[in-house]
Amino acid sequence: MSKPVLSVRNIQKSFGGIKAVRGVSFEVQRGEILGLIGPNGSGKSTLFNCILGQLPADTGEVEVNGKPVSNIRPSDLNKLGVGRTFQQLSVFPKMTVLDNVILAGQEHRGTMLSRLFGPGDAGLTAEAEKMIEFFRLTPYRDTPAGSLSYGQQKLVDAAMAFMAGPDLVLLDEPAGGVNLTMLANLKDRLVAYNAEHGTTFVVIEHNMEFVMSLCTRIIVLAEGAVIAEGSPAEIRANQTVIDAYLGG
Ligand code: ADP
Ligand code: MG
Repeated sequence: MSKPVLSVRNIQKSFGGIKAVRGVSFEVQRGEILGLIGPNGSGKSTLFNCILGQLPADTGEVEVNGKPVSNIRPSDLNKLGVGRTFQQLSVFPKMTVLDNVILAGQEHRGTMLSRLFGPGDAGLTAEAEKMIEFFRLTPYRDTPAGSLSYGQQKLVDAAMAFMAGPDLVLLDEPAGGVNLTMLANLKDRLVAYNAEHGTTFVVIEHNMEFVMSLCTRIIVLAEGAVIAEGSPAEIRANQTVIDAYLGG
């Protein structure tokens, strides 16, 4: 088997007395769409933040394409081809959709300040327009991002994360607060992007329908530990998962 794109070993993270993540390990192969599910407070976002260097883990190692990246700076992780979207929207509401996506591209290239105040970059603009078209946002190209629907803004968020041409993208609740039509649209675009570019996704999600239909494999967290792992069908039928999470 080829090298995993992402390898996470024994990550632990406490906040004072709260053990948010208790020794989580997993690997993700190229092209997989891995779902990370679990009840509120089960440590999903903390795990993401540890993987992405936004929080120092207490223990554990993370490798991207076989390179150790533990305690790496988020901007350096970007250079290794790792992108993310946040649980909260990160668009600039007063800027147009196009400018948001261009800005994300500039940020990834580390040229933000010089470009913001300098001449436009035709190549980058064309790339941003292509990305906007891919996410079917072309009619909103010149609209301030803040006046789009919440679901459309989530699409802008994804377009921004993909401007780095990442190998691996971690998405924190991309479907949260998104209506049914936009959900289908978002899923369709993520699957198409994965198929076209071979990009690997790790997706935190609450919406079971969304996660079960999007993901090729699912890991279930409860109280900071992995309680199950398998295909969507296996997870649906797993008694431990049903008891801990899906039941209710
Ligand atoms: P999830 O994303 O699965 O909902 P989180 O990773 O946000 O879970 O939270 C896991 C646990 O860690 C929760 O008990 C939460 O209250 C706690 N926690 C998360 N972030 C912090 C923080 N910055 N400071 C203190 N406690 C935190
Ligand atoms: Mg969370």
